[in-house]
Amino acid sequence: MLITVSQLIIGIVDLAAAFLFMYGLKRMSSPVTAPSGIFVAGIGMLGAVLASFLYAFSVETTAKPHLLMNLGLGVAALAIGGGVAWWVGKRVAMTAMPQMVAIYNGMGGGAAGAIAAVELFGDKAHGATQLAVTLLGALIGAVSLSGSLIAWAKLDGVLKKPLRIKGQQIINATVLLGTIAVGGTILFAALGGTVGFIAMPQLIYLFFGLALVFGILMTLPIGGADMPVVISIYNAFTGLAVGLEGFVLENPALMIAGMVVGAAGLLLTLLMAKAMNRSVANVLFTNFGDAPKQKQGAIKGSLKPVEAGDAGIFMRYASSVIIVPGYGLAAAQGQEKLYEFVKLLISDGVSVKFAIHPVAGRMPGQMDVLLAEAGVPYDLIFQLEDINDEFKTTDVALVIGANDVVNPEARTDKGSPIYGMPILNADMAKKVYVVKRGEGKGYAGIVNPLFYGDNCDMVYGDAAAVMGSMIEAVRGLGAKAA
Ligand code: NDP
Repeated sequence: MLITVSQLIIGIVDLAAAFLFMYGLKRMSSPVTAPSGIFVAGIGMLGAVLASFLYAFSVETTAKPHLLMNLGLGVAALAIGGGVAWWVGKRVAMTAMPQMVAIYNGMGGGAAGAIAAVELFGDKAHGATQLAVTLLGALIGAVSLSGSLIAWAKLDGVLKKPLRIKGQQIINATVLLGTIAVGGTILFAALGGTVGFIAMPQLIYLFFGLALVFGILMTLPIGGADMPVVISIYNAFTGLAVGLEGFVLENPALMIAGMVVGAAGLLLTLLMAKAMNRSVANVLFTNFGDAPKQKQGAIKGSLKPVEAGDAGIFMRYASSVIIVPGYGLAAAQGQEKLYEFVKLLISDGVSVKFAIHPVAGRMPGQMDVLLAEAGVPYDLIFQLEDINDEFKTTDVALVIGANDVVNPEARTDKGSPIYGMPILNADMAKKVYVVKRGEGKGYAGIVNPLFYGDNCDMVYGDAAAVMGSMIEAVRGLGAKAA
């Protein structure tokens, strides 16, 4: 079969795009090279999208009358989609990033589902393999779409509590089996079998409807603390769905991009699950409806408030401080003030390190990005496994806007929803200061016994304002740093 010049160009650009996706992804593995990685992968995507317009030169005769219309629709979709993404991307708050990721992820799944719908309704998929792959992509894409929308609603606070009903697993399994059965019937009917009870377009509607319902049912019961795993698993789903539809469309760029996203999402899922000490199966299936309740009244001790200035001065005279940043620091946008304070301490000879928990904040890597934004050097930043042993020999742990990631209950209380999650050993430091606004709970919605510990004092206030007071107090001592 001869290929045209336009098809050759598309092939070359697609191959280059696939290379750029993988190279970009590789660069995203470190905060230092991540911005350029995103740029490189973006160039790849732009090239693949622009090259796809060259298909206009090789459309089938039957499609020619619709060519201009389709090109116009393509350009309009790009302008609207690109414009909205640009506008929203510029405005989105750092703390709302996970919601945005969930929405975009859902759109990717929806796009894969839409490609499958065009193939199925247009009766374009030929042969059992192509049809089966189309159906599988449609199922995964639709589940990813509706599941991601529920994840968005949970992260955005629209849905406040996990919705758990009796017999949830049986209902979910029934809906999934029903979806697979309808998919099987479509395959059977499309390959020449006779299905008397329902005609083809209705079967396809039913298939998509059931898949969407399954995505909703699967996500509704999952608790807040497990959300990171859920988001990354939907990311893997979307990649897989896109890859499968790329196979159906015989589009290598789509196939490779989908598989890269799918593999990255899967690896992230496994890493996140490990960080939270949940197996993926446990998150998705066995945790339904059985999140144990926290024992009330089991926490001993009292909350001991201190002034921000006093805490700041104490740290100035300490020899080592480990800082644990959390969601509240991002919410307060206090990272720059925090780094200003750190510079003061370092200039006075205090050893200062940052300890990052893999699920601190609301997005994997959020704390790394936040600190990078403030200009904190990477050699001050340590991941959980590299620093956890140092807390017990450290003078002060400064917990700023973090809660669940330093909750010692995760080690000891089998009834806790975060039991088994590795935590930062802040409680083992000689002295702990916790900066938060009041009695607010963390994402998992539980009380933290660390705050009641003998070695812990509470510094109440917005993280940025508290850092301002600490800076002022230390400067008042005549510290050297600017
Ligand atoms: P948490 O959500 O556990 O705690 C944040 C704390 O910050 C709250 O207790 C709150 O207390 C305080 N806070 C809020 N706003 C401010 C402010 N302006 N100034 C000072 N303090 C503030 O955060 P962590 O980072 O410790 O833990 C992350 C949690 O989120 C984990 O449970 C994780 O599983 C979950 N999660 C993580 C995701 C990820 O990928 N990283 C994604 C989704 C969920 P107060 O109201 O009293 O100020």
